Amino acid sequence: MKPELSVVIPVYNEESGLAQLFARLYPALDALGISYEIIYVNDGSRDTSASILAEQFRQRPDVTRVVLFNGNYGQHMAILAGFEATRGNIVVTLDADLQNPPEEIGNLVAKMKEGYDYVGSIRRLRQDSAWRTVASKAMNRLREKITHIKMTDQGNMLRAYGRNVIDLVNQCREINTFVPALAYTFARNPTEIVVEHEERAAGESKYSLYSLIRLNFDLVTGFSLVPLQFFSLLGIGLSFASAALFILMVIRRFILGAEVQGVFTLFAITFFLIGVILFGIGLLGEYIGRIYLQVRARPRYVLQAILEQSTAEDKQNS
Ligand code: UDP
Ligand code: MG
Repeated sequence: MKPELSVVIPVYNEESGLAQLFARLYPALDALGISYEIIYVNDGSRDTSASILAEQFRQRPDVTRVVLFNGNYGQHMAILAGFEATRGNIVVTLDADLQNPPEEIGNLVAKMKEGYDYVGSIRRLRQDSAWRTVASKAMNRLREKITHIKMTDQGNMLRAYGRNVIDLVNQCREINTFVPALAYTFARNPTEIVVEHEERAAGESKYSLYSLIRLNFDLVTGFSLVPLQFFSLLGIGLSFASAALFILMVIRRFILGAEVQGVFTLFAITFFLIGVILFGIGLLGEYIGRIYLQVRARPRYVLQAILEQSTAEDKQNS
């Protein structure tokens, strides 16, 4: 009944690359010789992706399921919806754009069978623009320090998760989360392997510089209070420094008389402090924003339909 392997693929405006994906994914999985299912989540594509997926479901209904969102809720929400539909013991996530070669799934599964419950991946030769590689490496290091989540290559979605991890992720109701990090926090025995990475087969990247910055904020504020704690420490330090400066100025005032020459130095100090305050307000805002989204408790995504074959069990029940 239950397949050994579930593959979850978020799809957003990928009509130009889906045919190529099918042509490589199904043979790669058939070659593994284990039972599998593929779950596509259409994240409100505005092109013909949904009908291409529906057609693929008609071609291979035995191993294909399609979850259709009624709008665009983002890659990570799509993956989470996919997770809820999975039945396999091992769950692998994959991008639809063929940047993650489907042939690597076998290596992930083999690693899982060694007893790990989380297999991350590191791209051997990253096929992204230079600035993205440098920026994401730097961000990676900072994030690892703050959140203690070890992901050498956070930008890569080709990962495998055990059923125990998926069940826990399914219990979370987080909004604006980052699936590999969330899953990592539940993993007992995580590891990583090196995988190939290719250029996007067709279509274009859905992420702009802005959304990458947003993602990194979510990654830090969604998994750690360290920035807030660091900020309160910084506040204490600056208050002491300001108090010392104040005392110095008062003493100076009485010994040397009124001073005006240093006025621009004081401006510089003031501007610096204003900058720190603004950053602090922004940081608070990040956390308050997350609380706001969470207390609204709206559905995280809305399903339009699920295309799946009725199982033998369902038939018995009806
Ligand atoms: N994606 C999605 N919803 C979105 C944006 C992206 O489901 O709002 C999917 C997209 O179809 C692809 C994967 O997430 O399968 C990764 O997106 P993309 O290749 O654009 O990201 P990049 O590789 O540039 O980081
Ligand atoms: Mg991509």
